[in-house]
Amino acid sequence: MRGKRNFYKKKSLIDKNLKLEKRLCPVCFSKKYSKFYKNNNYSKINTNGSIYRYKHILVICKNCNLVYSNPWLGHKNTKKLYSSSAIGSAFEQSEKAKKHFKCFKSFFPKKNCFKKNTNILEIGAATGSLLKNINIFYNLKKKNIDGIEPSRKLFEKLKNNNFFNIENKFLNQIQPSKKYDLIIMDNVLEHIEEPKKSLKKVRSLMSNKSKLYIAVPNIFKYKNNFRDPFGHTINYYENNIKYLFQTSGFKIIKLKKHYNYLNFVAKRETGLIKYNYDFKNDLKIKFQVVKNFIKKSNDYKKKIISKFNKIDKKIKLNNLKIILFGASNFALEFLDHTNLKKNILFFVDNNIIYHNKKRFGFKVFSPKKLKTSNFDKIIITSRAFSKDIRKSILNLGIPPKKIIEL
Ligand SMILES: [Zn+2]
Repeated sequence: MRGKRNFYKKKSLIDKNLKLEKRLCPVCFSKKYSKFYKNNNYSKINTNGSIYRYKHILVICKNCNLVYSNPWLGHKNTKKLYSSSAIGSAFEQSEKAKKHFKCFKSFFPKKNCFKKNTNILEIGAATGSLLKNINIFYNLKKKNIDGIEPSRKLFEKLKNNNFFNIENKFLNQIQPSKKYDLIIMDNVLEHIEEPKKSLKKVRSLMSNKSKLYIAVPNIFKYKNNFRDPFGHTINYYENNIKYLFQTSGFKIIKLKKHYNYLNFVAKRETGLIKYNYDFKNDLKIKFQVVKNFIKKSNDYKKKIISKFNKIDKKIKLNNLKIILFGASNFALEFLDHTNLKKNILFFVDNNIIYHNKKRFGFKVFSPKKLKTSNFDKIIITSRAFSKDIRKSILNLGIPPKKIIEL
């Protein structure tokens, strides 16, 4: 199955196998766990075009039901991967970016929810869509809005924007000299390997009046994602995220479930909080659906791979010239299961940080290039943005019969 991967391996590409390290549960520090999900062929491509391969092994904590990667990548590899990746790159007008703002707005619905001089910090600003939307909707000032983003490439893209200040940093690099009125972690916590430590830092940036807005994927709202149905290093559900925040000195004021996320606002808690969760019972009852899903997910994976193989056959048989739209991790999966080197003309991607660079051994261009190119088929090699991409291809006047969706 994986034997075809060498075809796009060029000397300029680094294709690395990463070593993994054992660890304790990052939320309750228990060492007891049972097996949960395993992907022996997990791979990622970073913003520089380097490909990393490792085993993505998820276990479930026997104490707090946390589903987390164990063994994990370790501090050094994690830092390297995050500073050279573009994670959460929901581009500005995407459906995903709209959803994220809609969730936020459900807690702060009115245009005058924030005073003019409200200080805001977003941890993990990604493409900056959320902060931009916040600045515009609530009519706030750039000087009061800060964002940090560990990805170097995303930072470079954001540094001259008119809506917020941005620094290329990890959370642990912030100096706690300033208190913020509102701190935002929008789909960030699931990527954080040491949530207790991070929340301690976040708490130090808050006063007793400050609010913390969190959005995190809900493990019970899994998607049939062939690459990895759980996808994150830590996968929370309602009770263990509550437990995490309560044991980290926070009080959750309001929790909502939108789409596949858990969304909530929390404040600092100074007194002791009582919590009482029946994790054993949750595992027996609530987690049953997830366990059933894992079984189905393997069948789904087989189905997708056989679809890739059919597409591969058809393209070779008719000697079609193809373009791939999406030059990131899903493209990596597609290339790993096909052998279309001779048929691929180039890639296009909405992410400007890839433009005119080589990825997988092919040039990546702006989607505008499609208008002036001759090709037979365009394959959408992105999952998260496939609907947006399809729309944008059709808007360029390309007939639907030329589009292949995976
Ligand atoms: Zn635990």
